[in-house]
Amino acid sequence: MIIGSHVSYGPQGLLDSVKEAISYNANTFMFYTGAPQNTLRKDIDLSLVGAAHELMQNNNIDINNVICHAPYIINLANNTTETKYQFSINFLKEEINRCTKLGIKYLVLHPGSSVGLDPHIALDNIINALNIVLKNDSKVTILLETMAGKGTELGKNLEEIKYLIDHIINKDKIGICLDTCHLNDAGYDMANFDHYLDEFSKLLSLDYIKCLHLNDSKNPINSHKDRHANIGFGTIGFTNLLNIINNPRLKDIPKILETPYIGNTLEDKERLYPPYKYEIAMLRKGEFNPNLMEDIRNEYQTS
Ligand code: FE
Ligand code: FE
Ligand code: ZN
Repeated sequence: MIIGSHVSYGPQGLLDSVKEAISYNANTFMFYTGAPQNTLRKDIDLSLVGAAHELMQNNNIDINNVICHAPYIINLANNTTETKYQFSINFLKEEINRCTKLGIKYLVLHPGSSVGLDPHIALDNIINALNIVLKNDSKVTILLETMAGKGTELGKNLEEIKYLIDHIINKDKIGICLDTCHLNDAGYDMANFDHYLDEFSKLLSLDYIKCLHLNDSKNPINSHKDRHANIGFGTIGFTNLLNIINNPRLKDIPKILETPYIGNTLEDKERLYPPYKYEIAMLRKGEFNPNLMEDIRNEYQTS
């Protein structure tokens, strides 16, 4: 199983990300090239990239399974402010260049939000932008993430995803990232994941699916909320999530956890602990641990 989590991109960039992934016993990971909420980005230090690649090789992490996530503020759907639309396109181009320098193959992108626009026009704006950005000679594939449909988010159903893919000229350079929390919140039943894949394969080849974000959801199906819960502590539940990662049709694609950090409810409410090492172990074992939160707090407090 290829499984990892979101990790931070530290002062040493990708090298810090690899170290963090190793500390969770992960064999893949996902990172942002800076803060997810802003577009401040540092230059890439190539000697540190070399060290990061070496550390991956020595720890059984195949760089072809490592994922980069573009920042949230890129919105290719809305062009009502021309400068903002251009900014998003240019930033995405730079993000692709950064991935190339880092040796990363896959860049996850939220398709965008229509805001005040007609959703059909907004979808065409996304297509236009992606066709500008996606070059034949690029080594980077953009993975459009399936969204919860919060606010005016696009990419919330299979029909929108199909429309986007159908109109991308350079189809070798486009793919899909499924997110289980988003799919649940968008109205797809994660207890019947094979049915979702059947519906998907009627519209698009399953080969487009290159990554899976594995998250439980704090909200019921079709709630259009997008709030992630820890594995087995949400409305999707442990068994359904375990079945999804063990689905033979998604066997070779990386599974990435984006579940929330655990708060220390005992004394220091400010401390938050990453759950990934524990959730990965639980998923590999295939057995739900109802005391996971307590175990995490206890282990971090005594270490
Ligand atoms: Fe995302
Ligand atoms: Fe996600
Ligand atoms: Zn989300």
